[in-house]
Amino acid sequence: MTEGYRIWLDRISTSYVTLPKNMVHMNTIVNYGRATAVVVSTGMSTEIGKIAGTLEEIEVEKTPLQKSITKLSQYIIILVLSVLAILVTIGIIRGLTWMEMFYLAVAAGVSAIPEGLPAVVTVVLAVGMQIMARRNAIIRKLVAVETLGSATVICSDKTGTLTLSQMTVQHIYVDGQWIDVTGEGYMPQGEFRQQGRIINPESNKTLIWHLRIGALCNDALLAREEQCCSIFGDPTEGALVVAAAKAGLDKEKLEMSYPRLDEIPFQSEKQYMATLHPRDSGRVIYMKGAPERLLSMSKHLLKDDKIVSLEEADIHAIEQAHISMTQEAMRVIATAYVDLPPEFEELKEEELKGKLVFVGLSGITDPPREEAKEAVKLCKQAGIKVIMITGDHKLTAESIARQLDLPPGKAITGVELHEISDEGLSQQIESISVFARIEPMQKLRIVNALKGRGHTVAMTGDGVNDAPALKSADIGVAMGITGTDVAKEASDMVLTDDNFASVVAAVDEGRTIFNRLRNVIFFLLSSNFGELLALILCVLFIGKAPLLALQILWVNLVTDTSAAIPLGLEPKTGDELKQPPRHPRVGLLFPGLLLRIVYMASFMGVGILLVFNWAQSRVSIEEARTLAFCTMVAFEWFKAFLARSDEHTIFKLGVFRNRWLLITIPVAILLQVAVVHVPFLQVAFGTVPIAIEKWGIAILAGGSLFLIEETRKILFPRLFSIGKWRPLS
Ligand code: ADP
Ligand code: MG
Repeated sequence: MTEGYRIWLDRISTSYVTLPKNMVHMNTIVNYGRATAVVVSTGMSTEIGKIAGTLEEIEVEKTPLQKSITKLSQYIIILVLSVLAILVTIGIIRGLTWMEMFYLAVAAGVSAIPEGLPAVVTVVLAVGMQIMARRNAIIRKLVAVETLGSATVICSDKTGTLTLSQMTVQHIYVDGQWIDVTGEGYMPQGEFRQQGRIINPESNKTLIWHLRIGALCNDALLAREEQCCSIFGDPTEGALVVAAAKAGLDKEKLEMSYPRLDEIPFQSEKQYMATLHPRDSGRVIYMKGAPERLLSMSKHLLKDDKIVSLEEADIHAIEQAHISMTQEAMRVIATAYVDLPPEFEELKEEELKGKLVFVGLSGITDPPREEAKEAVKLCKQAGIKVIMITGDHKLTAESIARQLDLPPGKAITGVELHEISDEGLSQQIESISVFARIEPMQKLRIVNALKGRGHTVAMTGDGVNDAPALKSADIGVAMGITGTDVAKEASDMVLTDDNFASVVAAVDEGRTIFNRLRNVIFFLLSSNFGELLALILCVLFIGKAPLLALQILWVNLVTDTSAAIPLGLEPKTGDELKQPPRHPRVGLLFPGLLLRIVYMASFMGVGILLVFNWAQSRVSIEEARTLAFCTMVAFEWFKAFLARSDEHTIFKLGVFRNRWLLITIPVAILLQVAVVHVPFLQVAFGTVPIAIEKWGIAILAGGSLFLIEETRKILFPRLFSIGKWRPLS
């Protein structure tokens, strides 16, 4: 480890094997600062690996979705038991034998249970998460998939998420004068101009001081050769390295003459960074950070290469310069230094206060992301409030907010937030759209205030100190590129491109997945209830079961699954982000959906009763059952297309848009024909061949359901939307 560099290592838990002082465990998180280490073992041969090897499988907690599906199965068990009781009663009244009753009971059990549901739900979630990953949002906790759809607020970082993070120094303020820097991106080529005239930067000593501090009090690197010109490290620091390079100051060469002896790394809550270097016969501390922070620690000012005392008028002029840059949406970094005697070894904040020599300001542009602007617009349509949270200056934040067309609202700073009580914050929070100069720990208060008002909150973050807020938010979103491991660990979702637009894409996909699950559940449950109702009605009125248990199982597993999986892959309607967020208390099942299930199930139950009744007095019981079986299956084929939406007709959705359904339904038809007409399958399924007119009856029954329901969608599209859109508080 390089001498003098201090490292901060996060909680090396003493609960594992204690290591020698100069070693760290695998998975140790570097809180901030830098460290160099040699790897002595990897994977399972590390201490952590040994522990992992001895750990038994840990039980994973269930998500609300899984819980509600478990609950659903409990209801179904109750339903099966009560239906069994009804069937037994009817059976006794109608004088059925015990053997017949046993077969009936098995058939009832099979028809009530949606055997395909767990498999289909898994497929829908897995495919949905894959699509999200393709749109740069990686789901870490399954629960996020559901919660995303009901997000009402997205609290987003500004720097790098709403902005491009391609930073360039454009203005420099030193010696009470403005200097403009030309050139774009990280190419170290550009000119220094004063009042339009090109100047030689070396002629201005204060400017050189300012650039040198910016380059040395800095952890970023400029890659020159192969990847010219990109930077490694913090983009803000990268911009400063590039600005220095434009004046011929090479960071690596400078570091040879001014090696770093100690440092205070940049932390958002401190708002500055400081480094200690040898200089001449003594020591020097270089500092860069937020202007107001450095000004408050300064006593002197570097002016025309001379140290003068910092007067009120100077402070005022510097503040004015600062404000004028923030109004142009720039992020401003100030520099300062202090000379010290040679025995000075260790950097401490106390040593700096009231001793600094203020040098100058750099105004850094960070243009907003074009996609973010689009995404903000989508959020407006989707009823989602966007709140910007940043460590930057209020005016910078407000300028960016304007450029992004963020909904108008108040901007408050971390200091102001400090003064507001929790109740006060709760009252005001709806009117605030920008939080500036915020310390990461304050994000937690913002999340809690929003949650307290009934919002479902998505919060982005990257630093270690963002972790509590990420954990507390309904959807914690960590940055994949700039995020620390701690932030990722605490999050529900990770963005691979750090882009705000990806959060909105994830909300879009989350809503889509939820709709798909609803359609699948509607489809499967309506078929189960339909079968059950047909069974009860036929036993009640005819004294015979219309389908055999194995036939019901065939419907549930083969016919239904072949339709349900394509339904779970239904393409987006494009309306997902035009609707308000889902109320978090409205689950997969809502009153309208249940009503639609009951309506479809009744249609099918009565339909099968009529068909079976007609057939059983004319043909053999086997043939009557085969016809009832085919009718049930035909209902399912048509219902698959109906289940694509509860509001929109198939023409509005696009007849050919769900291609999977157009492949699987013909396959299901072929399989059904095989079950009825292939001899060995007839033996297995208790079917007999039926004539073409009987097939016609089955298709007619299914087709009539289709026609009636599609007409209903035209006439009363919102008939089954009861309880779907509960107003958000
Ligand atoms: P953001 O949330 O927008 O990323 P930060 O908390 O990182 O904001 O930065 C807050 C302020 O600290 C900035 O306005 C800037 O003045 C200063 N600052 C940012 N990055 C650095 C850095 N690497 N070194 C010193 N100061 C910095
Ligand atoms: Mg930052």
